[in-house]
Amino acid sequence: MTKIEPQPGIMQIKPYVGGASSVEGVANVIKLSSNENPFGPSPDAIEAFQRAGRELHRYPNTDHASLRAAIGELHKLDPDRIICGVGSDEVITFLCQCYSGPGTEVIYTEHGFSMYRISALAAGATPVKVPERERMVDVDEILKAVTEQTSLVFVTNPGNPTGTMVSQAELARLARELPDHVLLVLDGAYVEYVDGFDGGARLVNKYDNVFMTRTFSKMYGLGGLRIGWGYGAAEVIDVLNRVRGPFNLSMAQQAAAEAALQDRDHVARCLSENTRLRSWLAEALAELGVPSDTSCANFILARFASAEEATDCNAFLQEQGIIVRMVAGYGLPHCLRITIGDEASCRRVAHMIGRFKGGVPGSKLMLLEEDRLDDEAAS
Ligand SMILES: *Cc1c(COP(=O)(O)O)cnc(C)c1O
Repeated sequence: MTKIEPQPGIMQIKPYVGGASSVEGVANVIKLSSNENPFGPSPDAIEAFQRAGRELHRYPNTDHASLRAAIGELHKLDPDRIICGVGSDEVITFLCQCYSGPGTEVIYTEHGFSMYRISALAAGATPVKVPERERMVDVDEILKAVTEQTSLVFVTNPGNPTGTMVSQAELARLARELPDHVLLVLDGAYVEYVDGFDGGARLVNKYDNVFMTRTFSKMYGLGGLRIGWGYGAAEVIDVLNRVRGPFNLSMAQQAAAEAALQDRDHVARCLSENTRLRSWLAEALAELGVPSDTSCANFILARFASAEEATDCNAFLQEQGIIVRMVAGYGLPHCLRITIGDEASCRRVAHMIGRFKGGVPGSKLMLLEEDRLDDEAAS
């Protein structure tokens, strides 16, 4: 045995498990497990990435000035109060590293993102999980859990894996009522899917102890490239920049992100397809006896009768080459999170859940042309 020992908290971390991307023995899988954009990034982003490939011997800039200026212009934010990271995950890590540690508490909600707990433990802090109400973040429960030791509160809005949203009024109340020594972090990974929502930027402008994180991984279709950003008070940004590696983002990341941001037509198309297919899929599953809360993101959380049924359905879908996400680890063992894919993927997953449920005669789903053809071919 060596005498080297990790810091307290590290061994309590259960490593993050990403969405599966393959099924043994199945060639063409449909991956609906990681909330990726089925249409991919803007072609402009791919071109910018390729162009950056010719300059790989050059170190990137350290200040991300051009990308921050572009973000600032689009969202009407002060670029000096923006920090860019290797995914918003890195920004979350900076926040925990800088503001929490041994003896402090980090609050997150019942079905909240697992990275909050991981980053809090990595910093030596105590993660504190508070209940949600029917898969909705409950502001009163958060306020009740705050102590002198609380350093950070993480709220995902819209939520993942719930897809639900805290109202603007409730969010404002949380920001107003939290004590000054607590930094409220609004994780806006899915804000782009909510037309007209600022992700909490106005609250950040109003309160120095409110911070917002955003990502290029979801709507912008750049999850594989790892780019995220945060917006906060100048004082907080200054603190975070002290722990940020100077070359944390390559030129390829910065260039692709900036190009993706400029292609508003691509974003508009992805948004409208997501909205259209999300309501279609939710209705189709509801008719099959699989309800879901109204989702504000690029996935729906399908509720089954029991954990057993959800597990069986997941296994059945996998046999058909469709990968969705089990969310038992998020306290939702009777649910499956299904990313909104393209139209063919949505039809296929609905059809297969229909098969799993034994079908509902006469339902809208069963009347789909494609499904009838499928059934004829099968019989
Ligand atoms: C996907 C997601 C993120 C984004 O992570 P990146 O590191 O930017 O890819 C952040 N928070 C939540 C809740 C997410 O679902």
